[in-house]
Amino acid sequence: MAPPRDTFLPFALPDIGDEEITEVIEVIRSGWITTGPKVREFERQFAAYIGAGHAVAVNSCTAALHLALEAIGLGPGDRVVTTPYTFAATSEVIRYFQATPVFVDVEPYTLNIDPAHLDAVMPGARAVIPVHVAGAPCRLAEIQAIARRHGARVIEDAAHALPTRLDGKLIGSSSDVTCFSFYATKSLTTGEGGMLCTEDQALAERCRTMSLHGISRDAWKRYMADGSWYYEIVAPGYKYNLTDIAAALGLAQLRKVDAMWARRREIAGRYDQAFAGLAELQIPTQAPDQQHAWHLYMLRLHLELLRIDRAEFVTELKRRQIGASVHFIPLHTHPYYRETYGYRPEDLPVAWREYQREISLPLYSRMSDTDVDDVIAAVLDIVTAQCRR
Ligand SMILES: *Cc1c(COP(=O)(O)O)cnc(C)c1O
Repeated sequence: MAPPRDTFLPFALPDIGDEEITEVIEVIRSGWITTGPKVREFERQFAAYIGAGHAVAVNSCTAALHLALEAIGLGPGDRVVTTPYTFAATSEVIRYFQATPVFVDVEPYTLNIDPAHLDAVMPGARAVIPVHVAGAPCRLAEIQAIARRHGARVIEDAAHALPTRLDGKLIGSSSDVTCFSFYATKSLTTGEGGMLCTEDQALAERCRTMSLHGISRDAWKRYMADGSWYYEIVAPGYKYNLTDIAAALGLAQLRKVDAMWARRREIAGRYDQAFAGLAELQIPTQAPDQQHAWHLYMLRLHLELLRIDRAEFVTELKRRQIGASVHFIPLHTHPYYRETYGYRPEDLPVAWREYQREISLPLYSRMSDTDVDDVIAAVLDIVTAQCRR
């Protein structure tokens, strides 16, 4: 084994600099730290960046997904079609309504929901929630057409998809609702946070109202004249508002979202170049008419050519001071979904197979060229040591 680097390279780190720190300090000094002018400004600038009609800032992508399903009137016993190849949030929000998640298998290359399986399960479904895994766009036009045919809504989980482009257009303005995440590891972070984009004003208003205790802003505005104490509760809402402190962080991050993406793309390009020629490794695929957001670099192992499995590969990377992760443990293989719905891993064979050979490498704009070299050297070192050739 080649000598490892001196310090551990974390799998993910936020790219926060003096711009963010200055913005946050300004808000703290201002005396207004919860939802206020910074949140409104962040919503305005985010909507403009995406090209979306309406943007509602919330405190997580999970909250955004929950509000979207509430706004379309999801209820007990309803069915929502989604992918198993995602994080817990995508499906748990369906269960909040006592509705049923219906998992369909994914495409082997992108790991995104496979539209070929949709028609069979769509009859009677209220919505479909696709995920743009790693930042590679799913086959949105096909999904939207199938959903429309079945009278179902499309709610995009775009937690990885900033900035993802499809036919030149940023993801975020073509479905009923698109939900973004600003969690610490995501491509724009506010610590915790999320944004919901929609072209439907009534839907945006419902989400906004429900994001803050079901308090109607219209009523509040109506009675503003005689003081701001009056409000009306129109539904039992939630406490999902974003703070101005977080929004200040978001505004500074938004200014550099393209620069951070360019750096991630550069790193992904170097990984591609280093790994493309090795039979033991499969690099991510990318179509020419698409812009990958490069939230994750998902490498896949040809296990039949290696003497170690994926878990051991992760351990070997760690021994070489490189943090790695795995995306995703398919939802249908987790105890809750197995026990509640009787899923077996093989029921969604592509998701199950690909999960077992996937490794996510560090990919973030703060990585130095040396960090990237170290990751490449570690991967090549392991492949050389463990290949069956
Ligand atoms: C991170 C993530 C979420 C949840 O985002 P939060 O902002 O943490 O709620 C949802 N879906 C996917 C695919 C994610 O990776």
